[in-house]
Amino acid sequence: MRKALLCPSAACRPNALLLGIVNGDGTIWPLQQPVRIDREFVEIANRGRRPEKRFRFASPCVQSACQQWSGSRCGVIDLCAADVRSENHPLAREWQCPIRSDCRWFHQNGRAACEVCPEVITDASESWAQGDRLNAGDLMSH
Ligand code: SF4
Repeated sequence: MRKALLCPSAACRPNALLLGIVNGDGTIWPLQQPVRIDREFVEIANRGRRPEKRFRFASPCVQSACQQWSGSRCGVIDLCAADVRSENHPLAREWQCPIRSDCRWFHQNGRAACEVCPEVITDASESWAQGDRLNAGDLMSH
């Protein structure tokens, strides 16, 4: 049986993979190799602003157990890809993404997902009001 695809915009929980760090300009600085995080990382990361505002994590896609699941696919990347207005992010062209073969978004939307991926912040709730960032969570309620 095939292992579960990975959600590349997951919560900060033990055993998740740290994929990238949010830059000052709100784009994602991807790690060349993801780092598996542990309980200590989660505890320390939660002392500051919500870690989902500062990092990107990956963990197995739970499909219908996730509120973003829209019947047969992830609704987040469909909306993010449809909303993107900028040219392809340079990181999308340069980044040899280490989880591509297992990525839910890539399996679903192909390279179009990778083009918008470096601009997705898992929890950008404060900056969404400024209209300057893609917010994976808020996009679902608009
Ligand atoms: S760059 Fe593409 S393959 Fe990698 S996490 Fe983002 S959407 Fe998935």
